[in-house]
Amino acid sequence: MLSCKQVATLASQYLDHDVSTPLKWRIRMHLMMCANCRRFIRHLQITQTVTKNIKVDEQTPDSEKIWQELQQKIRQESKQD
Ligand SMILES: [Zn+2]
Repeated sequence: MLSCKQVATLASQYLDHDVSTPLKWRIRMHLMMCANCRRFIRHLQITQTVTKNIKVDEQTPDSEKIWQELQQKIRQESKQD
């Protein structure tokens, strides 16, 4: 089984679907059993989504706005736990 540190290292590649299928399953196995890494992956995913959306929508990204939007999304996500 992967360690939390390994999952954290692979997280962004995992979200970009940039890992091999066996490795993907090992990460999923870990996520099924580890709430901390589930939360970590989810927040990372939100970060990536927000960052990508802002890059597409606006030519000059406002870092303050990105940060506020990110915090808001994380708050919304946290409430669902
Ligand atoms: Zn973990």
